[in-house]
Formats: sequence, C-alpha cells, structure tokens
Amino acid sequence: TSFGFKEVREEEKSQMVSNVFSNVASNYDLMNDLMSGGLHRLWKDRLVCKLNPFPGMKHLDVAGGTGDVAFRILETVNSIKYRALQDPLNDNLQEETQIYVCDINPNMLNVGKKRAIERGLGEDKSLVWVEGDAEALSFEDCSMDGYTIAFGIRNVTHIEKVLAEAYRVLKRGGRFLCLELSHVEVPIFKDLYDYYSFSIIPAVGELVAGDRESYQYLVESIRRFPNQEKFASMIADAGFQKVEYENLVGGVVAIHSGLKF
Ligand code: SAM
Repeated sequence: TSFGFKEVREEEKSQMVSNVFSNVASNYDLMNDLMSGGLHRLWKDRLVCKLNPFPGMKHLDVAGGTGDVAFRILETVNSIKYRALQDPLNDNLQEETQIYVCDINPNMLNVGKKRAIERGLGEDKSLVWVEGDAEALSFEDCSMDGYTIAFGIRNVTHIEKVLAEAYRVLKRGGRFLCLELSHVEVPIFKDLYDYYSFSIIPAVGELVAGDRESYQYLVESIRRFPNQEKFASMIADAGFQKVEYENLVGGVVAIHSGLKF
C-alpha cells in the first residue's frame, strides 16, 4: 500500500494517523528506543533545556500523549524549586506550575497517565491531561508561557493551523519549541540514513510491533515534511519572531524555536 499524500484525502489522513498511533501506542517506548538507539531521550532533554522552564509557568505540550516531554519539564521545575527552597526571599515558588499535556489520541494519553503513576506523579496537580486537536486548541488566547510539540507536527493535516494555534495561546514573551525528525543533507550520511529508514525501520516495525505499514507510513511522512529552512519560514509566517533551528545528528532531528512578541 502507498500512503503518499496525493493518494490520501484529508479526512482519510487524520483517520489513518489516529489508527497508526492506536496501533503503536502499546509498543511506543520500545520502538522509540529501538529506532533512535535511545537518542530520543537526549533530544527531548535538549528540547527542555532550550525551553528553560521555571516554577509557576503555564506550559502546553501538544501531541504529548506519552508524557515524555511533560515529565522532563516537571522534573526540571521541581529541581529548581528544591534548590531554591533555602532562599526565603524567593516568592516565585508559591505559584502553581501547570503543564497541560494535549493529545488527540486517548490511547496515547493513557500511556502517559500510566507512566505518570509509575513515576510517582499520578497525584501531581501540575500535570493536566487534555484530549484535543493541535489544529483547534481549547485553551484561551495568551494563556501559556511555553508551547512544545515533539514528534507531533509532522502528522497533522494542516501545519499552518497548528502554528496559528500555538501563536494564539502563547502570552507575549512566550516560547514556541518544536522537536521533529527532519532532513539530512550531509552526503554519505544521507545515503546511510535513507537505507536505514526505508529498509530497516519498516522491518523492525514488522518484527517487533507486527506492523510494517504503520512504520512505513512514519518513514514516508518524514520525507514529506518541509525541510529546516522552509519550516522556519512557516513559523515566521505564523507571526513568531527570532525564529531559529538547531540540527541534531546532522539533521536527523531539528529543534525549531520562535518567540511571540
Ligand atoms: N510527544 C510524544 C513523544 O515525543 O514521545 C509523542 C509523539 S507521537 C510520535 C505523536 C503524537 O501526536 C501521538 O500521540 C498522536 O496521537 C499525536 N497527534 C497526532 N495528530 C494530532 C493532532 N492533530 N493533535 C494533537 N495530537 C496529535
């Protein structure tokens, strides 16, 4: 089966993305580790490091079902709080941190909720799980200090709508950060990466998750996603300032960022 954009109508695409993530939800962690050699953990660490979270912040992590990014943000905030406890002049710490995890797929949110319990964060009031669409968020205008989306924007139907919504919900001074599989341009490395993604990933998907098609689809979606420069200009077109990106592992992934002034 070919899952090329041209052959797939929009409503079929969102249904298919939903099916893909329902199918992969249960194998999600294992497959992420296998396919990235564990590197996705470092990439998410880097994303959160660039976000520079602070106690009392209101943050929205979109397409964040598994909680991977939200847990890192919360752990960073908690360690800042812990270190600052000695300082009685620090009144910032009283304000409650809110990290909203928004995902369209309830199966992915359930994976995240389960993992929160396993990490002892099941009762943590700072984490709020919300089922919702990145293209039509239920949050108010200018309500968030930060917005992250990790490995999520590639699969949406209208990237522009997602960016417009990110801009809408951020406060002035708020940061947008996007971690996504991107484009490798380094000559020999590009050939190796192509071989890896077109031959090895679908085979591992079949072997481990019993689902070659979903992983074939994921690989094709990486190829169709705009390159670093094009995506940066889309972020700027949505209204963001100081748009920049950082390539990791030669562009296998990129972190794009922007500010709402
Ligand atoms: N951010 C997590 C991570 O990095 O481990 C999960 C990434 S997973 C590859 C992509 C997620 O995007 C899935 O949980 C899927 O349900 C979600 N998703 C797809 N389309 C979406 C949309 N329109 N709105 C919100 N979430 C969406």
